[in-house]
Amino acid sequence: MDIKITCRNCERTFPLVMAIDPENRPGHCPFCGEVLAFQYVGTFVETAERVLSYGAEFARQLTLLGELAGGFSIDKASVDGPVEDALAAQDKLITEPFQSRWPPRPAEPVS
Ligand SMILES: [Zn+2]
Repeated sequence: MDIKITCRNCERTFPLVMAIDPENRPGHCPFCGEVLAFQYVGTFVETAERVLSYGAEFARQLTLLGELAGGFSIDKASVDGPVEDALAAQDKLITEPFQSRWPPRPAEPVS
């Protein structure tokens, strides 16, 4: 499961792992430098690491469960639905037109 995100400033889509790479600036777009997580960069990095780790493990285990099918089948909607619901959490946060936070405006402290 290679989760990708799209920078709303430069509109490039790239693997989430690039946004938390300590060799770059974690929490910033690796291409344009835009701030991806407006606050709590540490939380962004930790949460992204967990999503990537659990996502990969979830897909592995689900594959193993699928390989046991025969007398049963996995109801796809029961798996897809919660993932779609989870993704919907971002909807209200990305309806507003995007305004760049980088570079920070002079009145804002640089963190
Ligand atoms: Zn960007």
